[in-house]
Parts: sequence; structure tokens; C-alpha cells
Amino acid sequence: MSTEYLKLTESKAQTAHPGAARRTKFANSQLEVRMFNVGDGEAILIAFPNRRAWLVDGGSGNGNAKNQTLGQQLAAHLRQRNLTLEALIPSHPHKDHVGAVASLLAAGPPLTNPLTIYRSEDATWNPPSGWIKELKDVVANLPTPVNWVTLQNAHREISVTDGVSAHFFAGSGDDAYTSIFLQLRFHQAQLLFTGDSHCGYERDLLDSFGEADFRADVLKVTHHGSSSGTAQRVVNSVKPAIAIASTALDDGHRLEADTLQRLRNNGAQRRVFETVIDGDIILRTDGEAFGGGVLYQVELVAPGLFEAALGATTLPRATVDAARTTSPNHPECVAT
Ligand SMILES: [Zn+2]
Repeated sequence: MSTEYLKLTESKAQTAHPGAARRTKFANSQLEVRMFNVGDGEAILIAFPNRRAWLVDGGSGNGNAKNQTLGQQLAAHLRQRNLTLEALIPSHPHKDHVGAVASLLAAGPPLTNPLTIYRSEDATWNPPSGWIKELKDVVANLPTPVNWVTLQNAHREISVTDGVSAHFFAGSGDDAYTSIFLQLRFHQAQLLFTGDSHCGYERDLLDSFGEADFRADVLKVTHHGSSSGTAQRVVNSVKPAIAIASTALDDGHRLEADTLQRLRNNGAQRRVFETVIDGDIILRTDGEAFGGGVLYQVELVAPGLFEAALGATTLPRATVDAARTTSPNHPECVAT
């Protein structure tokens, strides 16, 4: 486990040493983002200063057993930390992202009334049968009312709590990679969550909604770092100081070499964290200025909380670096 403070400015993360008073203030009002190491999937829990929590995705693999385990463990984690689940943000309807949500809800975690679910509107969310239909049935039978908010070619700004707002936006189409995007703002801090998407979709969103919705201290790298996502033009607009990716070593969940290079281009001094190396990635911020930047704390926990139960692993950096690949033919990712 390692913990350190960082001062984040555009495209740059630097070690920071806040004094005792600031550390106390920081501990008392913080937003926390916890990307769990779930292996071949993604699950990110956001805890707000008011003890409410949002879950961005929640899935591990394409089978049922791991997703069932993850859902139960997420519910236990919420209870243990005295967090109340206020919103679900399933980025796109793939099992490795949303497969654990039904078992999470079935385990009866503390929920706000209503529970809100934000999602993109496309046909892949409306199959006549199968696990997505079953998830919707679980939601429909909850004792708590649920408010579905669906977006298509639209942007919605939500006030979350004191100092926190959320900007949701989505494009259109029937492609499962038309993920809903979320930019969170907490005082001066901004974080961008991108689901799984391809460079063309990211660029369309950037053109439609503009740089103000993309700029962020922290970029959740799209599609686990696949070559087909994380357009250079988007990286150049986001200017993140920290990039985080939910990764494993299999095809489709790997932070590929060219994606990593796009994150490192143009003299950026950003930190890149990925779950297959770092375990659970925990970021905290009070959203306030610190020496010309914004103060964050990074805590890396390996092995991560759910790793053993999910059969996920962390590996030495050299092993992961040696296994990096590049998938060819994504000119729309390279062009600026
Ligand atoms: Zn995925």
C-alpha cells in the first residue's frame, strides 16, 4: 500500500506536502473515487462528503459467478462504510461493466429514495430477453422508487451536494460503445469518466459538447486502455494530470502501448495508474487550490479488496509492460 499527496495542474502531477492544518481540512471534506481491481471488468465507487455514493459501472467478466460475487461484496462494502447508494451510472450495457448490478441490488444495500440510474439511450439497452432484461426486472421490483434518466445526443447538469455538480452527456447510435460520459466537478477539481468508447465517438462528443465538459484533473481511460479509444485530440483537451484504467492482461482489457504513448505525448508529466499493476486505485480530493494546482491524495492498495474473491491479480510492472500490444488501424485516434 502506498499513499501520497499530489498537486495537479494541467497535464502535470507533482508530489505535494500539505501542512497539518490542510491535511485535517482535507480529511474532513473529501470526494473519493475508488477504482477496484476487478480483473476483466470495471467498477468505480464515488463517495461524496455527505456519505452518499455513486457506482460507475460494476462488472467483472462475462460470466455469472464473478458478477454475483462482486455485487454481494459491493453491497457489503457500502454497508461497512456507512455509505448510501444514490445513483448508478452503467456506462454501457456490457456484462463486464454492469453484470454485478443485479446482485448488488438484490443484496439490499442502503439506497436513497429515489435511486437514480443514468444511462445512454440506445437500442442495446432494450433487448426482449437476457441479462439486461433481468436487471431491469430487478430494478422494477425494488422497494425503493427508481428514477431512470436516459440521454441521447444530450447533456444534463445535476447538482449533487454542496460544491459538487455532475455533467452527463451522451451521443447516439446503437453501438454498445456509445457510453454515457460523466464529468464531476467538486469545487476546483474535475474528473472525467468515459465508459468504453471508441475514438470517433469521443471526438464526436468533444465536438458536440465542447472542451469545458472534457477538461479534467483525472481521466478514467476509456475501454481499459484499448488502442481503439483515447484519441490524442481528446487527451490534449482533457489535459489530465492523472489517468486511471481498469485493466487485466487479456485482449480487450489491456492498456495498450499506443494508448499509453498518447497519454505520455507532448511533454505531459502525468501519472498513469492501472489496476493490474496497482490494485485498487483510490483518489481523494478536497477540490481546493494548493500552490497553483488542486490537491489530491492517491492511495494504491494491492492486492485490492475484491481480488481474491474474483480471481483477479496484480502483476509486476515489467510483466505488464512486456505484454503490451498495439492494435493497428486507428487513424482517428492518432490525428489531432
Ligand atoms: Zn469494458
